[in-house]
Amino acid sequence: MSFIQTGPEIDYQEFDQDKLITHTLKWLVDGKDTRQDIKNDLLRFYTEVLPKAAKWSQQAESHPPRHIPYSPWGEKVDDIQTDEGWKKLDALSATEGLIHLGHHNSSDHGRIHQFLKLFLFHPDSAFYTCPLAMTDGAANLIKQLKKMGHLDAKKIAILDKAYKHITSNDPEQFWTSGQWMTEKSGGSDVSSTETIAVADGENYKLYGTKWFTSATTSQMTFTLARIQDSEGNTQSGNKGLSLFFVKLRDKEGKLQGIRVRRLKDKLGTKALPTAELDFEGAQATLVGQVGCGIKNISNLFNVTRIYNACTTVGSFKRLLDLSRNYSQKRVAFGKRLIDHPLHKRTLNDIEVDFEKCFKLTFYTVALLQQHENNERAGEDIAEDDHDIQVMLRLLTPIVKLYTAKKNMMATSELVESFGGAGYIEDTGIPRFLRDSQVFCIWEGTTNILSLDCIRAIEKENAFEVFYKKANDKLEELEEEKASELRERLNHLTQQLKSWSKDKDLIQYHARDLAFSIAELTIDIFCIELDY
Ligand SMILES: Cc1cc2nc3c(=O)[nH]c(=O)nc-3n(C[C@H](O)[C@H](O)[C@H](O)COP(=O)(O)OP(=O)(O)OC[C@H]3O[C@@H](n4cnc5c(N)ncnc54)[C@H](O)[C@@H]3O)c2cc1C
Repeated sequence: MSFIQTGPEIDYQEFDQDKLITHTLKWLVDGKDTRQDIKNDLLRFYTEVLPKAAKWSQQAESHPPRHIPYSPWGEKVDDIQTDEGWKKLDALSATEGLIHLGHHNSSDHGRIHQFLKLFLFHPDSAFYTCPLAMTDGAANLIKQLKKMGHLDAKKIAILDKAYKHITSNDPEQFWTSGQWMTEKSGGSDVSSTETIAVADGENYKLYGTKWFTSATTSQMTFTLARIQDSEGNTQSGNKGLSLFFVKLRDKEGKLQGIRVRRLKDKLGTKALPTAELDFEGAQATLVGQVGCGIKNISNLFNVTRIYNACTTVGSFKRLLDLSRNYSQKRVAFGKRLIDHPLHKRTLNDIEVDFEKCFKLTFYTVALLQQHENNERAGEDIAEDDHDIQVMLRLLTPIVKLYTAKKNMMATSELVESFGGAGYIEDTGIPRFLRDSQVFCIWEGTTNILSLDCIRAIEKENAFEVFYKKANDKLEELEEEKASELRERLNHLTQQLKSWSKDKDLIQYHARDLAFSIAELTIDIFCIELDY
């Protein structure tokens, strides 16, 4: 019989991530019992739930969503039909508390637990993690809106009800949320948004086109529009944009005041419905402050960007595991691939990049956790929280852009590590390459996020806080290690000083700056995670 190659496999009964998870918990979670509880849940999730999720995910990938504009009898239905596998992933997300854990957890480690679970889930989720990201972002947005103090009781009740649904762990009650900003005129620059909001009693009706709307099957969304005055005028630019809440469906589940133009024909993320749609008088509630739409909605994507990083490292790890597994099975020139020094080195170099991405991601998750714990603890902690908030503000765009870019490069290399098989659809490997590209684009491209990092430095003195905290941390390290890092930190400080003299020059170097801060953060602040 002729030769047959054995393909790469994930053995769900072998918890390969054990070491990584154990060390991460040791790094970020206080209390042996709490660590053990989290680990037990992750082990159960990995060995018992993920094998089922993997099947549903494959099913959903093989049966992408379909848009049914009309019924056979000509009635406008605008139905988006998704596969049963996709629906099961929705129910799993609720029962496993993938949002709930981050919002209704009595321990101070709910976010760490939640994000480790998302990290494991993502490769078997068919990108259900995309609606989850926007849903968790929406939950954060609701919390922040309520703190601003501008909402009346009726609006608070609407938002409270939504919050209850989107953070529920009951599949019957669980809702997901969209985040619809991008229009034809721009996603990076939403200042030309054309959607208008026309007063309708206490509420508004929306008219306009949203050009990219993922999670089109959700029950609610947050979106931006320009309020039209009684003479039909609107204010242009960012200052004319306000934030609206839209409940998308009526009691029968039909979209209200919304027409789906079509589903996007995408490079990857095939199971995820992403549509172009028109608001045709959709009922909307103004929930932000008038003219502060962009500032308000940033509370949403501050969370979605951390999700992006976490799911990126989840995908990165899975492909690396598959490649390592294959390297033990495939023989060339009389030896297994892994026994060839150059192949081994290639994989080891990629592993180093994975570790950097993982560390930066979970350091940022830990900052989110600390900030939320401080918020819960109340006012007197506010001063201590300042530095944590600023670090979080600085690192959120950086962790997203850094992990997405590193993963994209690693994914290309890892696809190559399977040779020709990596290019063949039904090995399941090419999907990683198609899917990885999106991590660099949505939630802000690499350039846009690098510029956002500069904004954090200019508006919130973020580099000063970073510099101070980095120096404090260096005090704790052995001098030999510390002096090399101090040199790098001081060099970057000098560079930033000279770049900052000219507006174009600092923009020109924005990526250099973001990547340098990422690498310094990993080397200085993540030193305890050694596994
Ligand atoms: C699968 C998918 C799903 C999506 N889902 C959603 C969704 O649910 N909701 C939503 O609102 N959006 C969604 N988007 C849209 C996405 O967020 C935008 O495509 C993205 O933000 C980029 O905007 P754009 O397409 O207008 O690109 P552009 O803004 O036209 O950017 C083009 C290029 O120019 C660069 N660029 C732009 N401005 C600058 C500058 N000042 N300096 C340097 N470089 C610059 C960018 O980095 C980019 O490389 C989705 C996109 C995809 C692919």
